[in-house]
Amino acid sequence: MQKFGGTSVGTVERIRNVAKRCLAAQRAGNDVVVIVSAMSGETNRLLALAHEVTKIPDAREMDVIASTGEQVTAALTALAIQEEGGKARSFLGHQVKILTDGSFAKARIKTIDGAKIFDALKQGKIAVVAGFQGVDENGDITTLGRGGSDTSAVAVAAALGAGACEIYTDVDGVYTTDPNMCKAAKKIDRISYDEMLELASLGAKVLQLRSVEIAMKHGVPVHVRSSFSDVEGTWVVKEDKDLESIVVRGVAYDKGDARVHIDGVEDAPDSMARLFGALAERNISVDMIVQTAAAAASSTGKRADVTFTLPKTDLARAKPFIEEIGKSLGATGARYKEDIAKVSIVGLGMRSHSGVAAKMFRILADKNVHIQAISTSEIKVSCIIPLADTEAAVNALHEGFGLG
Ligand code: ASP
Ligand code: MG
Repeated sequence: MQKFGGTSVGTVERIRNVAKRCLAAQRAGNDVVVIVSAMSGETNRLLALAHEVTKIPDAREMDVIASTGEQVTAALTALAIQEEGGKARSFLGHQVKILTDGSFAKARIKTIDGAKIFDALKQGKIAVVAGFQGVDENGDITTLGRGGSDTSAVAVAAALGAGACEIYTDVDGVYTTDPNMCKAAKKIDRISYDEMLELASLGAKVLQLRSVEIAMKHGVPVHVRSSFSDVEGTWVVKEDKDLESIVVRGVAYDKGDARVHIDGVEDAPDSMARLFGALAERNISVDMIVQTAAAAASSTGKRADVTFTLPKTDLARAKPFIEEIGKSLGATGARYKEDIAKVSIVGLGMRSHSGVAAKMFRILADKNVHIQAISTSEIKVSCIIPLADTEAAVNALHEGFGLG
């Protein structure tokens, strides 16, 4: 089971290399199923075309368009394998079939029918499956969200009972932090599903979050590696004693969120339920939430200030609702801040070590980085900081927790 990302199939020459890799794996005695992404840049190009035609394109038609990128690569890859003297057959999402729910652009896989793939394998063929796409119960084409071919790959691996899922990409594995941000970043040899899940949701972009969830649920070991070399990459696996002994495995950052601050909300038992309920109804997902007693007392009773973060891309859409619900809760005003970043440390060992958060705050303080909000889980600590301090913070944390 192998998956090739956009840069790995970015040119005809590279598709030929993919074909050679697949044939080598088959010659080594494996049944080979390969999942392909669209050629690099192609999905962006397709989505942009739709936006040229109309400002707010219909979601169903968007998926029909976006899914064609993978359709092209799947057939080209099958042709390249045949050209090398092998046998191959391409499959689209609806042919396999990869059944999803009907949420266009972010569909979730429900079931996968492996029968056609098994048939192809039995005939000695390499099965080439288009990633990113599925089909819903109405027969409409769906896509799985940006980076969704990872999820296709892991889900197909789980459905077929593959021993592992190899994700070929343009980096040679998962790093302790973004190497573009920190020169001392190192490749991680093994990482647990839980840690990878946190890193993926905190801004590391190597694997789509959903693919890690599926890998964890079905216990599929995932090997993230480079398609341009033969070196071992990073294995994403079940946790064990070795993995647990590391306190901090990686540092992540995310510049995608904006901060909202609402002043003087009436401090009633259902205030928070009404505020966040209104946002949830509009499909706006918030992340960190901090509620504090309002600085300014009021004649009308107890007041609270609320700070939370949401995706920058949702801010424009959310503002009117925030103003509206804020007013109905008696708020005196709302402020928005886009020049923020979230930096996070992640590691299984935090469960059994104390003082990890304190150490993080000390490291940031020594760099004069002002912390604006904090959130923690069992295996991560996240801080909202000024955007301009991101690089300094990431580097300091990376070094301070001995990752370099
Ligand atoms: N081609 C899709 C995207 O760019 C899916 C993928 O590459 O995983 O998001
Ligand atoms: Mg990707």
